[in-house]
Amino acid sequence: MPDDPHAPLVFTSADAMRAWSRQQHHGGHTVAVVPTMGALHGGHLALIEAARSRATRVVVTIFVNPLQFDESSDFEHYPRPIDDDIEVCRSLGVAAVYAPTAATMYPAGFQTHVEPGALAEPFEGATRPGHFRGVATVVTKLFGATAADLAVFGEKDFQQLAVVRRLAADLDLGTEIVAVPIAREADGLARSSRNVRLSPADRAAAVVLSRSLAAGAAAHAAGERRADVLRQTVERGITAEPAARLEYVAVVDVTDLRPLDVVDRPAVMLVAARFGEVRLIDNRVLDGR
Ligand code: AMP
Repeated sequence: MPDDPHAPLVFTSADAMRAWSRQQHHGGHTVAVVPTMGALHGGHLALIEAARSRATRVVVTIFVNPLQFDESSDFEHYPRPIDDDIEVCRSLGVAAVYAPTAATMYPAGFQTHVEPGALAEPFEGATRPGHFRGVATVVTKLFGATAADLAVFGEKDFQQLAVVRRLAADLDLGTEIVAVPIAREADGLARSSRNVRLSPADRAAAVVLSRSLAAGAAAHAAGERRADVLRQTVERGITAEPAARLEYVAVVDVTDLRPLDVVDRPAVMLVAARFGEVRLIDNRVLDGR
């Protein structure tokens, strides 16, 4: 829809993206970026709304980043409905979409990566070697290309959020990081682009993640402070579902993601499990009171 005045501008090169963003800054605008891998759903929508409420120009980046995939089949099967995504962006008043190709992002000769530290080692980092190095590298590139004042990330990827906060602070990127709570389906399943790949039976079974986290949160609300007991509560719930192949459950400090013995401060329960071919993550914050 090239004649649609509300259609977002679509940029595929970092130079064009940055030139536009600089122009917006000169015009007195603030620019917020929402980094995504596309296949936009209700979770992304919440991020875009948060960006719109904080900045006068919103850029959505759509890039399925090969560097952060440790499994080639996951990368190949990742949904890429770019036309639908641009339409969603149009309907939400997004000013620009940055959708580079992998060849433009990582041309021949590319050799610089961003290596995050200890926050990136456990959980997703341990199960998906190189994942956060890929995330940190692409986020640094996206911040550079979009010259954004602020960037919006979801709490759905809790460890990623922690790694990105640290990255932005450590490398003086000058982009403020804003976090948005998890958007869920009606039954509690965290929204994810991977949910469409679940078989109907696995889709029904996957609700066990949010239900088990809710059981852990209920135990905590009822006064249980032993992290191990909370962890076992969540673990028992998930392993009771035959379709779920549990990868990890952890109860950790909300900021440094270190394991806790006693939940006497803000904490988060993190889970990852597979349903068939599809790997899902979820989490739930505990206020520690
Ligand atoms: P993705 O496209 O899956 O890489 O996600 C892009 C951004 O959307 C990340 O900051 C995610 O944390 C966020 N996100 C994905 N799903 C959700 C959700 N259900 N609720 C909130 N944020 C989400």
